[in-house]
Amino acid sequence: MLPPGSLVEQVEAVLAQDLPAIVRAGHPVLRRPARDFDGQLDDVTLGRLISTMRRVMHEAPGVGLAAPQIGIPLRIAVLEDRGVADPAVAEARARTPLPFTVLINPSYEADAGGTAAFYEGCLSVPGYQAVVERPARITATYTQPGGITVTTGFEGWPARIVQHETDHLNGQLYLDRAVLRSLTADAEHGRWAQPTVDAARRGLGF
Ligand code: ZN
Repeated sequence: MLPPGSLVEQVEAVLAQDLPAIVRAGHPVLRRPARDFDGQLDDVTLGRLISTMRRVMHEAPGVGLAAPQIGIPLRIAVLEDRGVADPAVAEARARTPLPFTVLINPSYEADAGGTAAFYEGCLSVPGYQAVVERPARITATYTQPGGITVTTGFEGWPARIVQHETDHLNGQLYLDRAVLRSLTADAEHGRWAQPTVDAARRGLGF
């Protein structure tokens, strides 16, 4: 028997669901810094958790998911982005494909290279998008599932995804950093779907 209320028991309860539900803004798990992963789960359970997170991310669909978004307070996130079909959008946003990546205990620092401001959304805040200005280039340090810790650079859209997911693990939502006047319901976002946010800046006054 697992000790009741233990992290392992919590993970097993989530993994027992067919498709774990994504928790939404307002749940305190999204507002507390997650705990470092330091071997609380054995390799098999960690692997099951990662593959479940990947499945939840694909089904949503989204390009990143942090463990707290399925109610697990550990510093683990998964990322994967196939990019976008429209070459003008891909170029303006530097949205290059990001292969499946697992971040364990990640941190990042901004590098020189300025900032980029684009619309961003979150699976835990459905129905809305807002502009977030973020460093365009970062250096991230994280551990991979095999236990190797790497320090590597990200730029463009992949850098944005790494920042968004790492922020989740620090108890932050993208809205904490967003330009609130840019807030757009999905139903209105079509009018601002240009490659850049210039028209939205003029139209919404931010
Ligand atoms: Zn999110």
